[in-house]
Amino acid sequence: MTISVWLDDDQWQEPQEGEIQKFDLVIVGAGLNGLGLAYFAHQKAPGLRVLVLDAGKSGFGASGRNGGFVLRGIHAYYEACIAQYGRDKARSIYQFGVDNQALIRKFIEDHDLDLQQVFSGSYLLASSLEEMDELARSAQLMSEDGFNVQFFPTDPLDRGFYGAMHNPDDFGINPFRFCQALRTISSVPISENEAVRRIESLGSGELKITTNRRHLIAERVYLATNAYSGLIETYFVDKIKPARGQMIATAPLKKIYVNELCYANYGWEYFRQLPDRRLILGGCRQLFIEEETGFQDLITPGIQQALESYLKDHFPELAGVAIEHRWSGAMAFTDDGLPLVGEMAECPHLYYAVGCNGHGLGYSMRLAQLACDMVFGDKPAELSIFDKEPASQRRRRLTVSDLEGP
Ligand SMILES: Cc1cc2nc3c(=O)[nH]c(=O)nc-3n(C[C@H](O)[C@H](O)[C@H](O)COP(=O)(O)OP(=O)(O)OC[C@H]3O[C@@H](n4cnc5c(N)ncnc54)[C@H](O)[C@@H]3O)c2cc1C
Repeated sequence: MTISVWLDDDQWQEPQEGEIQKFDLVIVGAGLNGLGLAYFAHQKAPGLRVLVLDAGKSGFGASGRNGGFVLRGIHAYYEACIAQYGRDKARSIYQFGVDNQALIRKFIEDHDLDLQQVFSGSYLLASSLEEMDELARSAQLMSEDGFNVQFFPTDPLDRGFYGAMHNPDDFGINPFRFCQALRTISSVPISENEAVRRIESLGSGELKITTNRRHLIAERVYLATNAYSGLIETYFVDKIKPARGQMIATAPLKKIYVNELCYANYGWEYFRQLPDRRLILGGCRQLFIEEETGFQDLITPGIQQALESYLKDHFPELAGVAIEHRWSGAMAFTDDGLPLVGEMAECPHLYYAVGCNGHGLGYSMRLAQLACDMVFGDKPAELSIFDKEPASQRRRRLTVSDLEGP
């Protein structure tokens, strides 16, 4: 949040210095990333003095507003990933997703949780012949690299698609329950409605955090503020591009129409049926890309109508079904499509992992686990897959060597 000259003069009071509380770690942002870090920090050393701050309510950011798809893949299909990052890195990125899925499954099992999990697998559905060809080639490349995948040259749902890739290990959860579980199990204190305004290095290795209520001192600070990161640190302004995503949910339907998580048209549209038989559907952002820039929480007539038309086109038998929920959430995009993870060069001990490119659940537990190692030690080598390359060195097209097998 910024403060105008008028507010500063008139109503805004800088928090009083008073007695300043000290922490080993302050986490900014109580979404699945910040809460994930709290969970692993608690596991590492339960006696650590950790505090989580959130400008709003815990889990009310994108983490409690997404589709609940825990996918192994990212924004780009495997072939496009290889073209962009090279084969080794593409394989590592997808393996990161596999490791993340295993960690979430273990978390659910270890704590005997009901996150409304549905181990149904996913379909990546082709909305054009071109996309079908890309999915076919991607499935081939993934098989060569040891990933469990199946290609369907026809529409497995019989709902107007051209074909599909099936990912049997993908699954769905209730993402808000996931956040709540991380919160409860880590038992770390969370201060809600407390917005961080400023973080400064004190030179002594400690950091001073100024919120809307008080000052705090911490040995380490972890920013898990995703789309909102540029509001706290100008470093992120040109690196994190916030964009809105909108969704709808029908009333509970009479029967199950689709079991799998469905991700169509290169991920521009996605839908699934929940255990209570509601169908949730999101996307269509590409139709209003300019309008959907930013992090304002609102629903717009254009996208909402587009979602309803999409539902009618692919599920004509649901014409007239009541739409009972409509919502939006803020995603954070980066230039290279991968999260931004590291320690701020000009402010030692200020760490960050932001910019999940609409796939935060697919990174969540593994990212938080490795970020925890980074915050309390050295940056693990595995996080180097997210290191940024100068734009001129980024790869865009496939070469023969890209496609060489392992
Ligand atoms: C509509 C939609 C559908 C999606 N579907 C999927 C999906 O199915 N699968 C998937 O993998 N991903 C999906 N995503 C993306 C996923 O939700 C995000 O990548 C993920 O939730 C990011 O988690 P986070 O903890 O980093 O951020 P958030 O959950 O956004 O949390 C950031 C927190 O920081 C707090 N904050 C911000 N500024 C401050 C401040 N100054 N001081 C204190 N606190 C602050 C906010 O209040 C917020 O709670 C979707 C996103 C949207 C919007």
